[in-house]
Amino acid sequence: MIAFTRFVYCPRCGKKAIEVHQKNAMRCTACGYVYFHNTCAAVAGIVETAGGVILTVRAREPMAGTYDLPGGFIDYNESAEDALRREIDEELGIDVAMTSYLGSFPNRYVYRDVVYFTNDIFFVCRPVGESITITGGDEVRHWEVFPAAALPFDKLGFASNRKALDRYRRLRASP
Ligand SMILES: [Zn+2]
Repeated sequence: MIAFTRFVYCPRCGKKAIEVHQKNAMRCTACGYVYFHNTCAAVAGIVETAGGVILTVRAREPMAGTYDLPGGFIDYNESAEDALRREIDEELGIDVAMTSYLGSFPNRYVYRDVVYFTNDIFFVCRPVGESITITGGDEVRHWEVFPAAALPFDKLGFASNRKALDRYRRLRASP
């Protein structure tokens, strides 16, 4: 676990006395504190429009320049549904309504050499309102719409997105 975080000091007492504990934790030999590097919860939306699914191009690391689904980490005291509406509003400037729950897929999110093991929760949703003007936030370089049959799987940055969109494509293709 220390290998995933690069942490050196105990986050409770500050001593340089941490050791690996189980597969996902570190234990301080000075004060006995055990810190679990728990799974982070994140959420993403497969936003359906008349032309297909909206993909964003990431403006920031990790995976800058790759295609992504709009979404992000769930804040403290926030539901997955509220987090998704907030993130899509921040990234695309649109309101969405969730039409179905697609599933959840584990992912690795590497930020400055620290590995976060996430669980990404996926919803299918639709823009609310008749005419949509998508503005794009500062986390998004630009956005594009792809038909479900022509999604750019080889240019998606995150494994969880590939798995979610593969499930989505299969569900849409089945009668
Ligand atoms: Zn300690």
